[in-house]
Amino acid sequence: MTDPHEHELRVLNPATEEVVATVPAASEEDVAAAVARAARAQRTWAALAPADRARLLRRFADVVDAHTEELAGLEVREAGHTLGNARWEAGNARDLLLYAAGGAERLLGSQIPAPGGWNVTFQEPLGVIGVIAPWNFPMPIAAWGSFPALAAGNAVVLKPAETTPLTALRLAELALEAGLPEHVFQAVPGYGATAGRALVDHPDIAKIVFTGSTRTGREVMERCARLVKPVTLELGGKSPNIVFADADLEAALDPFSFLDNSGQDCCARTRILVHEPVFEAAREFLAGALADVVVGDPADEKTRMGPLISRQQLDRVRSYVPDDAPALRGTAPDGPGFWFPPTVLTGERPDGPAATEEIFGPVAVLLPFTDEQDAVRLANGTPYGLSGSIWTRDVGRALRVSQAVQAGNLSVNSHSSVRYWTPFGGFKQSGLGRELGPDALTAFTRTKNVFISTEGPAQ
Ligand code: NDP
Repeated sequence: MTDPHEHELRVLNPATEEVVATVPAASEEDVAAAVARAARAQRTWAALAPADRARLLRRFADVVDAHTEELAGLEVREAGHTLGNARWEAGNARDLLLYAAGGAERLLGSQIPAPGGWNVTFQEPLGVIGVIAPWNFPMPIAAWGSFPALAAGNAVVLKPAETTPLTALRLAELALEAGLPEHVFQAVPGYGATAGRALVDHPDIAKIVFTGSTRTGREVMERCARLVKPVTLELGGKSPNIVFADADLEAALDPFSFLDNSGQDCCARTRILVHEPVFEAAREFLAGALADVVVGDPADEKTRMGPLISRQQLDRVRSYVPDDAPALRGTAPDGPGFWFPPTVLTGERPDGPAATEEIFGPVAVLLPFTDEQDAVRLANGTPYGLSGSIWTRDVGRALRVSQAVQAGNLSVNSHSSVRYWTPFGGFKQSGLGRELGPDALTAFTRTKNVFISTEGPAQ
């Protein structure tokens, strides 16, 4: 992390270490001013008819769509994402806008009968939402926190990670271009210790949506508790990939289940748990698969894996993989840039640090299991519970294991984790609350009940 007292953010291309841009870093006063502007703008925004709000969000989606290549290019340069992934990310932001726009038109209240009157129950917007985004998926995660909140009639102040402010700034500009009222959606790039904290501590921020490490998430939650401020936390993961002997081994052991985004993915399947009868076959398959992964320039269409985000992250990943650790390894460029080769550690203890802590790099551990109970025990053996995969052709077993694994997002015979139309979030120390899916808008509302007496004046 750069010194939080600096007044600007230096955005580096992690593939080359060249400076891509410098951006002024928001101070506490800047954040307070943004919140004040947002609070004024929110009243007008919330007063729009649902169809008008939806129309503007759909126009925003069209503008994002028209700028896909530009947004993807920014994500490649500031985050080192491969071009293919970066295009998917811009598409995810666009699709979520369309989905959220539909929700804006369907937010309902209810009416509950009572003796002598009616109860009318409203879902009101909360006000101004603070979204704190990480660097691993800057554009989608900013979108998940912000767009459903906007659709429900809130204003949003978004603090992107200090390393990746560019797509957030551009999205805020595109919102204006689409016709959203000024200050309804603002980006305040800055440091977590100043701008992030200022957002969390601001009394006019009605809710915080935080994505990042469990350590910082815990601090954010503690600070929110002082103001009894609601918080959604999307935190770390150490997700199991449970491969039974009857599985389609090639699909189950797709190395991009943990290498996607260079492993900087909270859903990465970094604990490869393999049924003993096929353990040696799995090891052999993975050795070949890692050797085939093309690691290099993320802007090249053929590249499948880019660099890590920063030197700090590279040092962190290295600390888990000593040179002499028993492992299957692919290759990576030397530098400049923050490169680490695809790696599967083969000599780890199931309860050791590499097998239980979030490394956030292209590193997985390979562990054998004896039977179903053993697989579930290993899968649940970390403080995390975000996602995971179960590979078997036995439907009964797939259902039993899905019920037993403690995680918010599981997939059977698939590595897919995120769909904008299904709920996303973690169990245990992976987080609190849910994003995306049909209930995403109501998470940004508060319920008010008004009792209306139908009794006439006393005779
Ligand atoms: P953090 O959790 O510290 O950062 C996430 C976001 O929170 C950033 O915008 C950050 O700003 C901001 N932030 C930092 N401190 C505070 C604070 N006190 N109050 C409010 N906001 C704050 O993650 P790091 O970038 O430090 O990454 C460290 C590790 O966290 C990684 O190695 C990885 O293991 C994990 N991580 C997990 C993610 C996930 O999706 N599960 C995402 C990112 C990281 P700033 O950028 O200035 O620090």
